[in-house]
Amino acid sequence: MKYLDEFGDPELARRLLDEIHAVTTRPWAMMEICGGQTHSILRHGIDQLLPESIELIHGPGCPVCVTPLETIDKALAIAERPGVTFCSFGDMLRVPGSGRDLLSVKSAGADVRVVYSPLDALNLARENPDRQVVFFGIGFETTAPANAMTVHQAERLGIGNFSLLVSHVLVPPAIAAIMESPRCRVQAFLAAGHVCSVMGTSEYPPLAQRYRVPIVVTGFEPLDLLEGIRQTVVLLEAGRHEVANAYPRAVPDAGNPAAIAMLGDVFEVTDRTWRGIGRIPRSGWRLSPRYREFDAEERFAVSDVRTREPAVCRSGEVLQGLIKPHECAAFGKQCTPRDPLGATMVSAEGACAAYFAYRRLDLARRS
Ligand code: SF4
Repeated sequence: MKYLDEFGDPELARRLLDEIHAVTTRPWAMMEICGGQTHSILRHGIDQLLPESIELIHGPGCPVCVTPLETIDKALAIAERPGVTFCSFGDMLRVPGSGRDLLSVKSAGADVRVVYSPLDALNLARENPDRQVVFFGIGFETTAPANAMTVHQAERLGIGNFSLLVSHVLVPPAIAAIMESPRCRVQAFLAAGHVCSVMGTSEYPPLAQRYRVPIVVTGFEPLDLLEGIRQTVVLLEAGRHEVANAYPRAVPDAGNPAAIAMLGDVFEVTDRTWRGIGRIPRSGWRLSPRYREFDAEERFAVSDVRTREPAVCRSGEVLQGLIKPHECAAFGKQCTPRDPLGATMVSAEGACAAYFAYRRLDLARRS
Protein backbone atom coordinates (compact mmCIF):
# COMPACT_ATOMS: atom_id res chain seq x y z
CA MET A 1 0.00 0.00 0.00
CA LYS A 2 3.01 2.30 0.28
CA TYR A 3 2.70 3.30 -3.38
CA LEU A 4 -0.91 4.43 -3.06
CA ASP A 5 -0.21 6.18 0.24
CA GLU A 6 2.39 8.31 -1.45
CA PHE A 7 -0.21 9.62 -3.89
CA GLY A 8 -2.38 10.72 -0.98
CA ASP A 9 0.42 12.41 1.00
CA PRO A 10 -1.27 15.27 2.95
CA GLU A 11 1.83 17.48 2.98
CA LEU A 12 2.26 17.29 -0.80
CA ALA A 13 -1.49 17.75 -1.25
CA ARG A 14 -1.37 20.92 0.85
CA ARG A 15 1.50 22.26 -1.27
CA LEU A 16 -0.40 21.62 -4.50
CA LEU A 17 -3.52 23.23 -3.05
CA ASP A 18 -1.49 26.29 -2.03
CA GLU A 19 -0.17 26.56 -5.59
CA ILE A 20 -3.70 26.27 -7.01
CA HIS A 21 -4.93 29.00 -4.69
CA ALA A 22 -1.94 31.17 -5.60
CA VAL A 23 -2.41 30.96 -9.38
CA THR A 24 -6.21 31.30 -9.44
CA THR A 25 -7.31 34.87 -10.11
CA ARG A 26 -10.86 34.40 -11.45
CA PRO A 27 -13.68 31.84 -11.83
CA TRP A 28 -13.04 28.76 -13.93
CA ALA A 29 -15.24 25.76 -14.75
CA MET A 30 -13.50 22.54 -15.69
CA MET A 31 -14.93 19.11 -16.39
CA GLU A 32 -13.45 15.85 -15.15
CA ILE A 33 -14.43 13.39 -17.84
CA CYS A 34 -14.25 10.16 -15.89
CA GLY A 35 -16.69 8.93 -13.24
CA GLY A 36 -13.79 7.35 -11.39
CA GLN A 37 -12.28 10.81 -11.06
CA THR A 38 -15.63 12.20 -9.85
CA HIS A 39 -15.77 9.60 -7.09
CA SER A 40 -12.17 10.25 -6.07
CA ILE A 41 -12.78 14.02 -5.97
CA LEU A 42 -15.83 13.62 -3.73
CA ARG A 43 -14.36 10.84 -1.59
CA HIS A 44 -11.32 12.96 -0.74
CA GLY A 45 -13.25 16.24 -0.52
CA ILE A 46 -11.03 17.83 -3.17
CA ASP A 47 -13.84 20.01 -4.50
CA GLN A 48 -14.25 21.53 -1.03
CA LEU A 49 -10.55 22.36 -0.73
CA LEU A 50 -10.23 24.22 -4.03
CA PRO A 51 -10.74 27.98 -4.35
CA GLU A 52 -14.46 28.73 -4.42
CA SER A 53 -14.04 30.20 -7.88
CA ILE A 54 -13.08 26.81 -9.36
CA GLU A 55 -16.06 24.68 -10.30
CA LEU A 56 -15.65 21.02 -11.11
CA ILE A 57 -18.31 19.86 -13.58
CA HIS A 58 -18.86 16.11 -13.64
CA GLY A 59 -18.60 14.54 -17.07
CA PRO A 60 -20.12 11.58 -18.91
CA GLY A 61 -17.26 9.13 -18.35
CA CYS A 62 -19.17 6.41 -16.54
CA PRO A 63 -19.52 3.41 -18.86
CA VAL A 64 -22.52 1.95 -17.09
CA CYS A 65 -24.32 5.31 -17.04
CA VAL A 66 -24.03 6.02 -20.76
CA THR A 67 -25.02 2.54 -21.95
CA PRO A 68 -28.40 3.22 -23.61
CA LEU A 69 -31.62 1.88 -22.19
CA GLU A 70 -32.18 0.23 -25.55
CA THR A 71 -29.00 -1.81 -25.15
CA ILE A 72 -29.99 -2.86 -21.61
CA ASP A 73 -33.34 -4.04 -22.98
CA LYS A 74 -31.55 -5.94 -25.73
CA ALA A 75 -29.38 -7.59 -23.07
CA LEU A 76 -32.52 -8.57 -21.14
CA ALA A 77 -34.15 -9.99 -24.27
CA ILE A 78 -31.06 -12.06 -25.11
CA ALA A 79 -30.52 -13.25 -21.52
CA GLU A 80 -34.09 -14.62 -21.40
CA ARG A 81 -33.63 -16.82 -24.46
CA PRO A 82 -33.46 -20.57 -23.79
CA GLY A 83 -29.96 -21.96 -24.26
CA VAL A 84 -28.25 -18.63 -23.56
CA THR A 85 -25.65 -17.99 -20.86
CA PHE A 86 -25.40 -14.21 -20.49
CA CYS A 87 -22.18 -12.90 -18.93
CA SER A 88 -21.49 -9.42 -17.62
CA PHE A 89 -19.45 -7.46 -15.12
CA GLY A 90 -21.38 -7.17 -11.85
CA ASP A 91 -22.17 -3.46 -12.10
CA MET A 92 -24.51 -3.98 -15.07
CA LEU A 93 -26.81 -6.38 -13.22
CA ARG A 94 -28.79 -3.70 -11.36
CA VAL A 95 -28.96 -1.12 -14.14
CA PRO A 96 -32.66 -0.69 -14.85
CA GLY A 97 -33.94 -1.34 -18.33
CA SER A 98 -37.58 -0.65 -19.11
CA GLY A 99 -38.88 -1.88 -15.77
CA ARG A 100 -36.49 -4.78 -15.12
CA ASP A 101 -32.78 -5.45 -14.73
CA LEU A 102 -30.49 -8.42 -15.37
CA LEU A 103 -30.66 -9.44 -11.72
CA SER A 104 -34.45 -9.83 -11.84
CA VAL A 105 -34.18 -11.79 -15.10
CA LYS A 106 -31.63 -14.02 -13.38
CA SER A 107 -33.87 -14.56 -10.37
CA ALA A 108 -36.66 -15.54 -12.76
CA GLY A 109 -34.48 -18.40 -14.01
CA ALA A 110 -32.25 -17.03 -16.78
CA ASP A 111 -28.61 -18.12 -16.82
CA VAL A 112 -26.98 -14.74 -16.08
CA ARG A 113 -23.44 -14.82 -14.72
CA VAL A 114 -21.03 -12.28 -13.30
CA VAL A 115 -17.55 -12.70 -14.74
CA TYR A 116 -14.32 -10.83 -14.10
CA SER A 117 -13.05 -10.85 -17.67
CA PRO A 118 -14.47 -11.44 -21.15
CA LEU A 119 -12.00 -14.34 -21.35
CA ASP A 120 -13.98 -16.04 -18.53
CA ALA A 121 -17.01 -15.89 -20.82
CA LEU A 122 -14.99 -17.31 -23.70
CA ASN A 123 -13.88 -20.20 -21.48
CA LEU A 124 -17.52 -20.84 -20.57
CA ALA A 125 -18.33 -21.01 -24.27
CA ARG A 126 -15.50 -23.47 -24.87
CA GLU A 127 -16.57 -25.68 -21.95
CA ASN A 128 -20.29 -25.57 -22.89
CA PRO A 129 -20.54 -26.01 -26.66
CA ASP A 130 -24.30 -26.63 -26.40
CA ARG A 131 -24.89 -23.12 -24.92
CA GLN A 132 -24.82 -19.73 -26.63
CA VAL A 133 -22.51 -17.63 -24.43
CA VAL A 134 -22.86 -13.84 -24.72
CA PHE A 135 -20.63 -11.23 -23.10
CA PHE A 136 -21.94 -7.71 -22.47
CA GLY A 137 -19.13 -5.56 -23.87
CA ILE A 138 -19.66 -2.00 -22.67
CA GLY A 139 -17.40 0.89 -21.80
CA PHE A 140 -14.86 3.33 -23.13
CA GLU A 141 -11.47 2.85 -24.76
CA THR A 142 -10.27 1.26 -21.50
CA THR A 143 -12.37 -1.91 -21.56
CA ALA A 144 -12.48 -2.29 -25.33
CA PRO A 145 -9.01 -3.87 -25.86
CA ALA A 146 -9.82 -6.92 -23.69
CA ASN A 147 -13.13 -7.36 -25.50
CA ALA A 148 -11.42 -7.02 -28.87
CA MET A 149 -8.81 -9.59 -27.90
CA THR A 150 -11.53 -12.02 -26.76
CA VAL A 151 -13.39 -11.81 -30.08
CA HIS A 152 -10.08 -12.23 -31.89
CA GLN A 153 -9.41 -15.35 -29.79
CA ALA A 154 -12.90 -16.71 -30.44
CA GLU A 155 -12.30 -16.44 -34.17
CA ARG A 156 -8.80 -17.90 -33.97
CA LEU A 157 -9.96 -20.87 -31.87
CA GLY A 158 -13.17 -21.36 -33.85
CA ILE A 159 -15.48 -20.88 -30.82
CA GLY A 160 -18.67 -20.16 -32.70
CA ASN A 161 -21.04 -20.25 -29.71
CA PHE A 162 -19.52 -17.05 -28.27
CA SER A 163 -20.77 -13.56 -29.12
CA LEU A 164 -20.43 -9.98 -27.88
CA LEU A 165 -23.21 -7.47 -27.23
CA VAL A 166 -21.23 -4.35 -28.06
CA SER A 167 -21.84 -0.88 -26.64
CA HIS A 168 -18.43 0.78 -26.74
CA VAL A 169 -18.13 4.56 -26.71
CA LEU A 170 -15.29 6.99 -27.33
CA VAL A 171 -14.21 10.03 -25.31
CA PRO A 172 -13.07 12.57 -27.97
CA PRO A 173 -16.44 12.74 -29.81
CA ALA A 174 -18.15 13.21 -26.43
CA ILE A 175 -15.90 16.19 -25.69
CA ALA A 176 -16.87 17.67 -29.06
CA ALA A 177 -20.58 17.08 -28.36
CA ILE A 178 -20.32 18.74 -24.93
CA MET A 179 -18.55 21.77 -26.42
CA GLU A 180 -21.11 22.06 -29.24
CA SER A 181 -24.00 22.32 -26.75
CA PRO A 182 -25.35 25.89 -26.50
CA ARG A 183 -25.65 25.40 -22.71
CA CYS A 184 -22.02 24.38 -22.31
CA ARG A 185 -20.09 26.16 -19.53
CA VAL A 186 -16.95 24.02 -19.66
CA GLN A 187 -13.69 25.95 -20.07
CA ALA A 188 -11.23 23.07 -19.68
CA PHE A 189 -11.08 19.29 -19.39
CA LEU A 190 -9.33 16.84 -17.11
CA ALA A 191 -8.93 13.96 -19.57
CA ALA A 192 -9.22 10.41 -18.23
CA GLY A 193 -5.75 8.98 -17.65
CA HIS A 194 -6.68 5.33 -18.19
CA VAL A 195 -8.30 6.09 -21.56
CA CYS A 196 -5.13 7.89 -22.64
CA SER A 197 -2.94 5.02 -21.41
CA VAL A 198 -4.60 2.99 -24.20
CA MET A 199 -5.17 5.60 -26.91
CA GLY A 200 -2.38 8.09 -26.19
CA THR A 201 -2.84 11.85 -26.39
CA SER A 202 -2.81 12.55 -30.13
CA GLU A 203 -6.60 12.93 -30.44
CA TYR A 204 -6.70 15.89 -28.05
CA PRO A 205 -4.67 18.77 -29.59
CA PRO A 206 -7.19 19.30 -32.44
CA LEU A 207 -10.02 19.46 -29.87
CA ALA A 208 -8.09 21.88 -27.66
CA GLN A 209 -7.47 24.17 -30.62
CA ARG A 210 -10.93 23.92 -32.14
CA TYR A 211 -12.82 24.62 -28.91
CA ARG A 212 -10.14 26.82 -27.31
CA VAL A 213 -9.92 24.72 -24.14
CA PRO A 214 -6.94 23.30 -22.29
CA ILE A 215 -7.04 19.53 -21.86
CA VAL A 216 -4.91 17.96 -19.13
CA VAL A 217 -4.48 14.19 -18.92
CA THR A 218 -5.12 13.38 -15.26
CA GLY A 219 -4.94 10.35 -12.97
CA PHE A 220 -7.12 9.21 -10.11
CA GLU A 221 -5.28 9.49 -6.79
CA PRO A 222 -5.60 12.72 -4.77
CA LEU A 223 -2.19 14.08 -5.83
CA ASP A 224 -2.86 13.12 -9.46
CA LEU A 225 -6.09 15.08 -9.43
CA LEU A 226 -4.61 18.09 -7.69
CA GLU A 227 -1.69 18.18 -10.13
CA GLY A 228 -4.10 17.89 -13.08
CA ILE A 229 -6.22 20.73 -11.69
CA ARG A 230 -3.11 22.82 -11.00
CA GLN A 231 -1.83 22.42 -14.55
CA THR A 232 -5.29 23.19 -15.91
CA VAL A 233 -5.58 26.43 -13.93
CA VAL A 234 -2.08 27.50 -15.05
CA LEU A 235 -3.07 26.98 -18.71
CA LEU A 236 -6.43 28.73 -18.22
CA GLU A 237 -4.87 31.73 -16.51
CA ALA A 238 -2.31 32.02 -19.31
CA GLY A 239 -4.98 31.69 -22.02
CA ARG A 240 -3.21 28.66 -23.51
CA HIS A 241 -5.40 26.11 -25.29
CA GLU A 242 -2.99 23.22 -25.09
CA VAL A 243 -2.79 19.59 -24.10
CA ALA A 244 -0.66 18.65 -21.09
CA ASN A 245 0.07 15.29 -19.52
CA ALA A 246 -0.16 15.31 -15.72
CA TYR A 247 -0.14 11.51 -15.56
CA PRO A 248 3.11 10.58 -17.33
CA ARG A 249 3.81 7.56 -15.12
CA ALA A 250 0.88 5.77 -16.82
CA VAL A 251 0.37 7.60 -20.10
CA PRO A 252 2.92 7.55 -22.91
CA ASP A 253 1.97 10.00 -25.67
CA ALA A 254 1.67 7.10 -28.14
CA GLY A 255 -0.61 5.08 -25.83
CA ASN A 256 -0.47 1.31 -26.15
CA PRO A 257 0.30 0.48 -29.80
CA ALA A 258 -0.52 -3.23 -29.43
CA ALA A 259 -3.95 -2.43 -27.98
CA ILE A 260 -4.60 0.21 -30.65
CA ALA A 261 -3.73 -2.31 -33.38
CA MET A 262 -6.07 -4.92 -31.88
CA LEU A 263 -8.89 -2.37 -31.63
CA GLY A 264 -8.35 -1.36 -35.27
CA ASP A 265 -8.56 -4.99 -36.37
CA VAL A 266 -11.67 -6.03 -34.44
CA PHE A 267 -13.75 -2.83 -34.30
CA GLU A 268 -14.80 -0.06 -36.65
CA VAL A 269 -16.07 3.40 -35.72
CA THR A 270 -19.83 3.92 -35.78
CA ASP A 271 -22.49 6.37 -34.54
CA ARG A 272 -23.61 5.57 -30.98
CA THR A 273 -26.46 6.61 -28.74
CA TRP A 274 -25.38 7.71 -25.26
CA ARG A 275 -27.91 7.21 -22.50
CA GLY A 276 -29.47 10.53 -21.56
CA ILE A 277 -27.45 12.42 -24.18
CA GLY A 278 -28.58 11.02 -27.49
CA ARG A 279 -26.88 10.06 -30.72
CA ILE A 280 -23.31 11.30 -31.23
CA PRO A 281 -21.81 10.76 -34.69
CA ARG A 282 -18.81 8.43 -34.86
CA SER A 283 -18.71 8.12 -31.09
CA GLY A 284 -18.39 4.37 -30.64
CA TRP A 285 -17.23 1.05 -31.96
CA ARG A 286 -18.97 -1.95 -33.45
CA LEU A 287 -17.48 -5.20 -34.72
CA SER A 288 -15.78 -4.87 -38.08
CA PRO A 289 -17.13 -6.93 -41.01
CA ARG A 290 -14.51 -9.65 -40.47
CA TYR A 291 -15.86 -10.30 -36.94
CA ARG A 292 -19.54 -9.46 -37.49
CA GLU A 293 -20.57 -13.11 -37.00
CA PHE A 294 -19.74 -12.60 -33.29
CA ASP A 295 -22.19 -9.71 -32.95
CA ALA A 296 -24.90 -10.79 -30.45
CA GLU A 297 -27.28 -8.10 -31.68
CA GLU A 298 -27.35 -9.67 -35.13
CA ARG A 299 -27.19 -13.26 -33.92
CA PHE A 300 -30.27 -12.82 -31.72
CA ALA A 301 -32.05 -10.35 -34.02
CA VAL A 302 -32.72 -7.72 -31.34
CA SER A 303 -31.81 -4.66 -33.44
CA ASP A 304 -35.37 -3.30 -33.45
CA VAL A 305 -35.84 -2.99 -29.65
CA ARG A 306 -36.98 0.59 -28.90
CA THR A 307 -37.41 2.15 -25.46
CA ARG A 308 -38.16 5.36 -23.56
CA GLU A 309 -36.40 6.84 -20.51
CA PRO A 310 -38.40 7.51 -17.30
CA ALA A 311 -39.48 11.17 -17.55
CA VAL A 312 -38.42 12.08 -14.01
CA CYS A 313 -34.77 11.06 -14.46
CA ARG A 314 -32.43 13.92 -15.44
CA SER A 315 -29.30 11.77 -15.80
CA GLY A 316 -28.73 13.12 -19.32
CA GLU A 317 -28.28 16.62 -17.91
CA VAL A 318 -26.09 15.22 -15.12
CA LEU A 319 -23.92 13.43 -17.67
CA GLN A 320 -23.49 16.59 -19.72
CA GLY A 321 -22.59 18.62 -16.64
CA LEU A 322 -25.68 20.82 -17.03
CA ILE A 323 -27.01 20.12 -13.52
CA LYS A 324 -25.55 18.64 -10.34
CA PRO A 325 -27.20 15.40 -9.14
CA HIS A 326 -28.92 17.01 -6.15
CA GLU A 327 -30.71 19.41 -8.49
CA CYS A 328 -32.79 16.45 -9.74
CA ALA A 329 -36.07 16.43 -7.81
CA ALA A 330 -35.91 12.63 -7.40
CA PHE A 331 -32.41 12.63 -5.85
CA GLY A 332 -32.44 10.90 -2.46
CA LYS A 333 -36.24 10.62 -2.56
CA GLN A 334 -37.70 8.35 -5.24
CA CYS A 335 -34.14 7.65 -6.43
CA THR A 336 -31.49 6.13 -4.15
CA PRO A 337 -28.76 3.51 -4.71
CA ARG A 338 -31.14 0.92 -3.20
CA ASP A 339 -33.93 1.96 -5.56
CA PRO A 340 -32.29 3.66 -8.55
CA LEU A 341 -34.30 5.32 -11.31
CA GLY A 342 -31.34 6.00 -13.56
CA ALA A 343 -27.96 4.48 -14.32
CA THR A 344 -26.06 7.39 -12.74
CA MET A 345 -27.45 6.26 -9.36
CA VAL A 346 -26.62 2.57 -9.94
CA SER A 347 -23.11 2.61 -11.16
CA ALA A 348 -20.07 2.65 -8.94
CA GLU A 349 -18.83 5.50 -11.16
CA GLY A 350 -22.12 7.40 -11.46
CA ALA A 351 -22.24 11.02 -10.30
CA CYS A 352 -25.63 10.60 -8.57
CA ALA A 353 -24.30 7.61 -6.60
CA ALA A 354 -21.19 9.61 -5.67
CA TYR A 355 -23.24 12.55 -4.38
CA PHE A 356 -25.43 10.15 -2.41
CA ALA A 357 -22.49 8.21 -0.95
CA TYR A 358 -20.20 11.04 0.04
CA ARG A 359 -22.24 13.89 1.49
CA ARG A 360 -24.70 15.41 -0.86
CA LEU A 361 -27.96 14.24 0.71
CA ASP A 362 -27.57 16.95 3.36
CA LEU A 363 -26.76 19.46 0.68
CA ALA A 364 -29.87 18.44 -1.25
CA ARG A 365 -32.04 18.89 1.84
CA ARG A 366 -30.59 22.32 2.52
CA SER A 367 -31.10 23.57 -1.03
S1 SF4 B 1 -30.95 11.29 -8.98
FE1 SF4 B 1 -31.82 9.44 -9.97
S2 SF4 B 1 -33.56 10.18 -11.16
FE2 SF4 B 1 -32.24 11.97 -10.69
S3 SF4 B 1 -30.81 12.14 -12.41
FE3 SF4 B 1 -29.79 10.88 -10.86
S4 SF4 B 1 -30.31 8.77 -11.49
FE4 SF4 B 1 -31.78 10.09 -12.56
